[in-house]
Amino acid sequence: MHYKSTRDPGLRLRASQVIAQGISEEGGLFVPENLPRVAEKLPAWQGMDYRALAKVVFGEFLTDFSPEEISRCVENAYAPDKFGGGEPVKLSPLPKEDGNKYLVELWHGPTCAFKDMALQILPHFLTESLRKSAEGQEAVILVATSGDTGKAALAGFQDVPGTRILVFYPRDGVSPMQKRQMATQEGRNVGVCAIEGNFDDAQTAVKSIFTDPAMKRALAEKGMMFSSANSINWGRLLPQIVYYFYSYLELCRMGRISLGDAVNIVVPTGNFGNILAAYYASCMGLPVKKFICASNRNKVLTDFIRTGVYDRRREFYATSSPSMDILISSNLERLLYALSGEDSQVLSGWMKDLSEKGVYDVGPEVREKVQALFYGGFCDDEATAQALRRSWEQDGYLCDTHTAVALDVYRQYVADTGDGGTPALIASTASPYKFVGHVLGALEPGHGEDEFADLHRLEALTHTCAPQQLVSLQGKEPRFTEVVGKGQTAGYVRRALGLA
Ligand SMILES: *Cc1c(COP(=O)(O)O)cnc(C)c1O
Repeated sequence: MHYKSTRDPGLRLRASQVIAQGISEEGGLFVPENLPRVAEKLPAWQGMDYRALAKVVFGEFLTDFSPEEISRCVENAYAPDKFGGGEPVKLSPLPKEDGNKYLVELWHGPTCAFKDMALQILPHFLTESLRKSAEGQEAVILVATSGDTGKAALAGFQDVPGTRILVFYPRDGVSPMQKRQMATQEGRNVGVCAIEGNFDDAQTAVKSIFTDPAMKRALAEKGMMFSSANSINWGRLLPQIVYYFYSYLELCRMGRISLGDAVNIVVPTGNFGNILAAYYASCMGLPVKKFICASNRNKVLTDFIRTGVYDRRREFYATSSPSMDILISSNLERLLYALSGEDSQVLSGWMKDLSEKGVYDVGPEVREKVQALFYGGFCDDEATAQALRRSWEQDGYLCDTHTAVALDVYRQYVADTGDGGTPALIASTASPYKFVGHVLGALEPGHGEDEFADLHRLEALTHTCAPQQLVSLQGKEPRFTEVVGKGQTAGYVRRALGLA
């Protein structure tokens, strides 16, 4: 299989090249030339455990990796002890006996958010890729994070030979627990820096460092190259395709659906990576009726799905679901590439409009295609807290704030369409303990002072256990405390890497 760029259809690269490079030189995103059709393989896939399924799905895409290499990546990344034992993804039916809502728990990994599903394996993909396509080069991973990617990437890349990782996060845009997780990160090859700005500022800064020719030259002189662990990297998206097949096949195994029945997929969305992976799975043959795209108060995607106009010229809100506080959803570019009939020219025009005017309009034809596939909805912090409380009180399911946004938008979808009968797979994207202040605040007013006091109170109140990875952060000294202005990120990178 070969890959091309959304903005340059002339490119023809191997999987190892696109994973090593991260983003295409002209600023486009890498996409497979064709998505493999796997519908007739699903009966055979039904009997597989997560790791076996991951290997066959990766085999479809990583055609320049040997089966042994793929197997090594998978076994290392999804070792049972890294994901709380058993299968890395756990399905929780709601209500337990006869409901047709299923929470797909994707947060049992080392950093308690779904990002681990991809970031535990990306370093293995990347080191194999570097061996194939950039022998001897050191990969410098630059990450812009709204909170969860940063920690998951740090955990995945910590002390991985041949790699260095630098993470930028918005100083006031992450939860106290997220900040603590990143600031205490161990490892010889890691750096963490807060920026004065929001996630979009961090992402824009990182993208411009990536594409700066002078920086690239300075790096090359030191035998280094940039790569990305953000979901613009194909190696991040690919692992996310697996769990949609897995959870669908799990429903078949549980006897809740028959092979071929359509499901709805509900995803709390920020950068549009997770929901895009679901879309790719459906293009490959997974039967999906509707993709339900759930946003918080930063509802640029809801508006886009409803109007066909993507307009980032609006106020940015810091919400109780900070990992979705995003106004530029990078991966939408991949969807629009597909829905525009792979028209690079038209797509490049939209992306140019976005960066120059802050807005683009895809027109009625593409808008209708988007609407046929996606339902967009949003909720504010108040409704998020209500949904969280409802989930706990009515269904006995304690969820985090991002998952609560998904639950609320799904409720709106059912109210709007009457389609409560189609089984729904709802992505549960983080442990409630990762956003413990807001989660506890939704159940019981008057908290949010100290995250560990909150954590112990939430345990006592709900008779649930906080993940050990979070409990053990208590009392750990922060190692990284640097804050830079949003124009100073390039300087930080030069200093951290010892460049001229
Ligand atoms: C990153 C994240 C999201 C959003 O996922 P995207 O792929 O960026 O759309 C949702 N919930 C949590 C907890 C996250 O960390």
